[in-house]
Amino acid sequence: MNILITGGAGYIGSHAVRKAATAGHSVVVIDNLSYGHRQAVPGMVLFYQVDLKETDRIEEILRKHKIEAVMHFAALISVGESVQKPLLYYRNNTAGAMSLLEAMERAGVMRFVFSSTAATYGEPEEVPIFETTKQSPINPYGHSKLFVEQILKDIAAAQPQFGFIAFRYFNVAGATADGLIGEDHRPETHLIPNVLYAAMGKRENITVFGTDYPTADGTCVRDYVHVDDLVAAHVIGIEKLRAGEGLFYNLGIGRGYSVKEIIDASQKASGKEIPVIFGARREGDPAELYADSAKARSELGWQPQFTDVERVIASAWNWHSAHPNGYGD
Ligand code: UDP
Repeated sequence: MNILITGGAGYIGSHAVRKAATAGHSVVVIDNLSYGHRQAVPGMVLFYQVDLKETDRIEEILRKHKIEAVMHFAALISVGESVQKPLLYYRNNTAGAMSLLEAMERAGVMRFVFSSTAATYGEPEEVPIFETTKQSPINPYGHSKLFVEQILKDIAAAQPQFGFIAFRYFNVAGATADGLIGEDHRPETHLIPNVLYAAMGKRENITVFGTDYPTADGTCVRDYVHVDDLVAAHVIGIEKLRAGEGLFYNLGIGRGYSVKEIIDASQKASGKEIPVIFGARREGDPAELYADSAKARSELGWQPQFTDVERVIASAWNWHSAHPNGYGD
């Protein structure tokens, strides 16, 4: 299949590019490189430096390469920044997706796979979180993605040939086994890379955000899914997707780990002492989030290979320790 991957130079997108190409698909990448790394895209994959707002250019690329399906990863991802700069998030994540969808409509491309997020659930009323759990985001990031889910439903209602899947990601971590690509966000805000930076001495310590949550050890609990497992679901999904379908799937392994457990597992995976500071809560962090991912497993046949967080962290350590400066300067 001819697949356009947006944000293919980013962390998750670059893993998707490799997974889709390895599965035999013909992949074209667009990325504006505002955060992505050109080196993360293999040389033989066609690459265009294009922004999502360039509707006409995207239409041209879709037509030129006879694109049949789009995987959309390009987005801003920082919850805290979204609270400070809501318009930036609605412009990039919501209006950006609309521009892409408009280009697809004009070019007659009818299959779409969307990176949604567990942040659309906000403070969930129940854990594990099911796809049917009430969605009520508590920040502009979550809203910016939930709006796109609604837009997709509306397009599907109006256009019977249109089919889409929205994957709601839990905490994505790790790096691919060959060690060639990995996570390099600037600035980095995520727990696992920052814990490993502390193990490497790239930062002095790691601060645990809050120790008084109503969880077993008082720190927040999250569901960490390996990036290669996550993108595997996208490739299965895009191959199975049929006209007229509108599907929603949680992608998590279905088990929660506390921040303290992540730090302990990181010490084991890296063999290093990690200096820890116990700090205040970070605004907007729910106590406990983990997925029920039975739907993706049963309907898509998705089988995550990384069900033990220590192996997820070991794969991230493999990348970070070999590339202490990420993709370089
Ligand atoms: N966290 C932490 N220290 C850090 C970064 C994150 O204690 O330096 C905690 C954060 O409060 C959350 C969990 O680790 O409970 C995962 O945070 P991350 O930013 O990786 O992902 P999020 O859950 O916000 O998507």
